[in-house]
Amino acid sequence: MHVARYWTTEPDGRIRCTLCPRDCHLAVGQAGFCFVRQNLGGQLVSLAYGRSTGFAVDPIEKKPLNHFFPGTQVLSFGTAGCNLGCRFCQNWDISKSRLVDRASLAYSPRQVVDLAVEAGCPALAFTYNDPVIWAEWAIDLAKEAHERGLRTVFVTAGFVTERAREEIFAHMDAVNVDLKAFTEDFYRKVTLSHMAPVLETLSWLAKTKVWTEVTNLMIPGLNDDPAESRALAEWIGDHMGPDVPLHFTAFHPDFKMMDRPPTPPETLSRARAMAREAGLHHVYTGNVHDRAGQTTSCAACDAPLIERDWHAIRSYRVRDGACPSCGARLAGRFAAAPVPLTSGRRTLLGLV
Ligand code: SF4
Repeated sequence: MHVARYWTTEPDGRIRCTLCPRDCHLAVGQAGFCFVRQNLGGQLVSLAYGRSTGFAVDPIEKKPLNHFFPGTQVLSFGTAGCNLGCRFCQNWDISKSRLVDRASLAYSPRQVVDLAVEAGCPALAFTYNDPVIWAEWAIDLAKEAHERGLRTVFVTAGFVTERAREEIFAHMDAVNVDLKAFTEDFYRKVTLSHMAPVLETLSWLAKTKVWTEVTNLMIPGLNDDPAESRALAEWIGDHMGPDVPLHFTAFHPDFKMMDRPPTPPETLSRARAMAREAGLHHVYTGNVHDRAGQTTSCAACDAPLIERDWHAIRSYRVRDGACPSCGARLAGRFAAAPVPLTSGRRTLLGLV
């Protein structure tokens, strides 16, 4: 058992978990909303520490990150549990599972980094469920990864307390934050969480050195109102800056939300056009085939720099992190060496 961090003991003897704003108060034996943090004998333990539900080698574009070493592979994994309750969860078989159901194996940070090195991955991605709930393991993994020259990627809903986020992101190189909607009503009813802490995380991230991209999964009839998409994009421009990439991605019916159709590609294209009108430089569509909506263009001269199809790279013209046509720097982190064209395929390494 791994004793967790981020907790205090209340006067009534219960443990208060201070990792995320859900603020669970746990009597002895009780687990939090996320299932993987439990009061055992008066100590909070992380049941998820070291307990991956499996590993896959993903293209970095799948996280999605389009401006963070494009064309590279990333060892991706998560644990059971989640601190949100999204009715539309696209990874619900992992996030809503109990550890015992998933028969998760225990891995040390060294073993995981060994696996990444063997698989030829220059980065680890903490993903599939929200790594906030296994912050202790993510931090230890990140330390090991950095010692051995690997990068770290955190894929999250950003529902985390101020104190914990400072410690977590001190160890991360890049993050994709899933901004699930731009109304408190959606957050409260559909995700069982709140929007304000997520916006705080995003504003705060914009002042750090962590490379940040934002995703908005568009669900027909729930968060695809054009006015909402515009307001979301304007907020990103105002609070994070126009260079933060924004991904509008397609929903597919899943978990407790089988009554909604998949997102029409036109909805994504419309939102993308609006966000660009609102002043964002890099806006993408995702989970659909859309060469135009997935191409990275120079913010200064509009020359196409990286052409993609879904997660595959079809052409790459960035030179030393800049546009070869006009010399303007492209926002993000880029390798000095040319990037080979990629298939965008995932390789499973035992995703159970
Ligand atoms: S991390 Fe888990 S236990 Fe802690 S407050 Fe959030 S949901 Fe509750």
